[in-house]
Amino acid sequence: MTAPAATDPLRVALLGFHHESNTFAPVPATLERFLAGGVTEGDEIVERYGSSGATMAGFLEVMDLDDVDCRPLIHADLNPMGTITEEAFEHLVGRMTSALAEGGPWDVVLLALHGAAVAAHQLDADGEIISRVRATVGDDVVIGVALDMHANVSHRMVRNCDLLNTYLTNPHVDARPRARQIADLALAAARGSIRPVMAIATPPLAIGFIRQGTSDWPMRQLVARAAEHAARHGVLSVSVVEGFPYADVPEMGMSFLAVTDDDTALAEVIVEQLAGEAWLLREDFVGTAIDIDEGLVRAAASPDRPVVLLDVGDNVGGGSPADSTHVLAAAQRLGIRNLFHSLCDPAAVEQCTTAGVGASLALTVGGRTDNLHGAPVAVRARIRHLDDGKFEDSGVTHGGFRFFDAGRRSLLETDDGHFVLLTSRPMGNTSRAELTSAGLNPQDLQVIVAKGVQSPRGAYEPIAAEMIQLNTPGCTSADLFSLTYRRRRRPMFPFEPETSYGQSQP
Ligand SMILES: [Zn+2]
Repeated sequence: MTAPAATDPLRVALLGFHHESNTFAPVPATLERFLAGGVTEGDEIVERYGSSGATMAGFLEVMDLDDVDCRPLIHADLNPMGTITEEAFEHLVGRMTSALAEGGPWDVVLLALHGAAVAAHQLDADGEIISRVRATVGDDVVIGVALDMHANVSHRMVRNCDLLNTYLTNPHVDARPRARQIADLALAAARGSIRPVMAIATPPLAIGFIRQGTSDWPMRQLVARAAEHAARHGVLSVSVVEGFPYADVPEMGMSFLAVTDDDTALAEVIVEQLAGEAWLLREDFVGTAIDIDEGLVRAAASPDRPVVLLDVGDNVGGGSPADSTHVLAAAQRLGIRNLFHSLCDPAAVEQCTTAGVGASLALTVGGRTDNLHGAPVAVRARIRHLDDGKFEDSGVTHGGFRFFDAGRRSLLETDDGHFVLLTSRPMGNTSRAELTSAGLNPQDLQVIVAKGVQSPRGAYEPIAAEMIQLNTPGCTSADLFSLTYRRRRRPMFPFEPETSYGQSQP
């Protein structure tokens, strides 16, 4: 690549396409859903993300540098759900590459991707985006990509960009500094002061969500080892990528990335060492969650509160529909009181909006998406609160998000002592402001049901007496064996326990 003269400002384009696609989830990621608030351009990108802790915020920091002319172009973001439709992908990626082509020439392109996007016609959707960006700007432009830790990274993604990293925390609280790292390295590469080269290792290993917390064994061991490698001379960035097991694609699984300054051999040694270490720990990544009834009884009996029950099967951050009623129905049956539960149910919100605050009514809630996530539950309740669902959290949240939009909401207090927050959009319970903005104090509740696995931890760990993972059914089930894969690699651990890797490979 040709380095620009030191006095010229570097021309930097910012682009984003952020989607985690659960190919087992029933609701597709359509263009309509993306356009309903998830696509921002130019200054809107600065307004929405600039003050947040998200990936794009890390990129936007370079706008303050004197020697950089940085242009946020377009950012498409949609909460996790099913596969992206061909129409949505082609429309949005078409807009991204057109904006790049029209606004150029560029020295650097920074891409905020998730890494587990799947489109109906492009299984490696992130690899396709990076390839199209490369084809648009040519080989001389530095392309830096920041990914979520749940990326399923393909070799094609690595081949078509210069720099790639992921978060190193789950729950994700370092999105912004990790993106800033990519931005800084990309600027240095464009100035010619470094020459980044990358290596990737993709052992045949899938790990479930319940053992993905980076403060827990065994992830903390791998993340610590990555930090040791990252501190070595000549190493620019190291990533431990957990992978996203709910995408049935050939790239699904764990991977390891290293970027070095012109030392391919060193990058290869690092990723192979990390992959080998993960392989030795593979049995420790297999975890089990506890039964719904057992979890509820334990939570209700706890002398300290709140106890947070994690609805693993309806993990909204993993693409589930947010309307599973398995836990609520069991709480009703067991007579558990003082419990909070949210459900995405726009039709029930309508009903409550018509009835108004203070009204008492009988209605059914949740369980509408499919048969996997439970049946609608009948409740008798008083409407305590209604609002437009917009709330803000300037504290620690998963992914660094600050502005939330649940769509119109209604908070019900049921006759059997439950607080049911009905939303019009799927919500993953990653912010305590979700409750306080509806007039509830999380610390007054005995039980809080959070639809997530690691993602609610940033918000709730500081106040929870205990957090318990429940083995609930759903399209993000803790039990990966309950999912029918057609396109993943075979053999692969843990599905084929005899799978071999590394030294033991033939
Ligand atoms: Zn993630």
